[in-house]
Amino acid sequence: MQPKIIAIANQKGGVGKTTTAINLATALAATGERVLLIDLDPQGNASTGFGIGTDERGIGSYALMTGEAPAASLVLPTEVPGLLIIPATEDLIGADIEFAGAEGREHLVQRALDEPGLAGQFGYVFIDCPPGLGLLTLNALVAASSVLIPLQCEFFALEGISQLMRTIDLVRHSLNPGLALEGVVLTMLDRRNNLAQAVSDDVRAYFGGRVFDTAIPRNIRITESPSHGKPVLLYDFRSVGAQAYVALAAEFLQRQKPVEAGV
Ligand code: ADP
Ligand code: MG
Repeated sequence: MQPKIIAIANQKGGVGKTTTAINLATALAATGERVLLIDLDPQGNASTGFGIGTDERGIGSYALMTGEAPAASLVLPTEVPGLLIIPATEDLIGADIEFAGAEGREHLVQRALDEPGLAGQFGYVFIDCPPGLGLLTLNALVAASSVLIPLQCEFFALEGISQLMRTIDLVRHSLNPGLALEGVVLTMLDRRNNLAQAVSDDVRAYFGGRVFDTAIPRNIRITESPSHGKPVLLYDFRSVGAQAYVALAAEFLQRQKPVEAGV
């Protein structure tokens, strides 16, 4: 069976893409799902977040772009049973220029994941996108069955969202007609802040039912966990941050179920 491939994208940096990729993937693996996380950001924060040092990464996701090695050979284990990762290396930094003239340059990751022997092992594949809407993000959107958008609960949360939605529409009309909107996750919510509620209301007005009921609160344990090379679920399972990602995973799985006819 083909896995569901989910691109975690937002062209703004620092909105919680990587944190959501790491912790949603971990929480799903904890429920018994087989999950692959692909780090497609040259900064490699998802790889660092699992304690994978730069000397341990091999050629990583760069080889998905070049096709120089079978995708299955790029996969590394994580501390989380059932969760594997294709890490990112700095080689990705020049991807926009390096692959600008490559034939089918938007389909490189898709092609790599279509190889027999890899994707079929997983129920879910998450792709952690870099900031921006360049070739790497485009490759993720082309390879994906859906896109999950983390939005930071701040005044400018929706700024630039029309650009992202336009890009998703363009990809749908040309390169990947099946691309769905998996949903929108509100991140770094500060409940003591009245503005956060107003932003949350705005986002729900814009995206309606596509917004997950579960919002991720701002939580110090989430900020600390990457420096310990662990998802927050392993670093401090009882923290409100970890529990929010557990709840998000449950809601995510619930939403995968087809709605019963006639209800
Ligand atoms: P992106 O991948 O979109 O650039 P990150 O997931 O790396 O964003 O998050 C940016 C920073 O904010 C990181 O230092 C991360 O640890 C921190 N962070 C993310 N989500 C939370 C949260 N819910 N509470 C506290 N800090 C967070
Ligand atoms: Mg990131």
